Amino acid sequence: MTDGCVFCRIVARESPADIVYEDDEVLAFKDLYPKAPIHYLIVPKRHIESLATVELDDTTILGRCLQIARTLGERAGYAERGYRVSCNTGPEGGQVVYHLHLHFTAGRRR
Ligand code: AMP
Ligand code: ZN
Repeated sequence: MTDGCVFCRIVARESPADIVYEDDEVLAFKDLYPKAPIHYLIVPKRHIESLATVELDDTTILGRCLQIARTLGERAGYAERGYRVSCNTGPEGGQVVYHLHLHFTAGRRR
């Protein structure tokens, strides 16, 4: 757990979140300010700051997060219609929370 990290606090259940998926290594929950009809955040439980600091050791967990996007897409009924998975990175990439996360959005075309 990294001090002051809002997503570490959610993982530790010290802050509330509407959790949609959990396993040993990954948590997914609804974005507090959704930008699409469905907007989830997929988060490795272990604190990784950003895509810009990812190491070779992190690639398994990143792949796992992508595979969970598939699961969430199927569960939400968007496997065929499709969805978007994105990862804001760094100040000019729009990253606000520096605990790596994938945005999963569905139900909106752009
Ligand atoms: P990013 O700009 O990629 O760092 O996105 C951070 C996202 O986290 C934003 O879409 C916020 O709405 C979302 N967010 C921030 N705090 C929380 C929270 N406590 N619970 C759920 N989502 C949050
Ligand atoms: Zn964290």
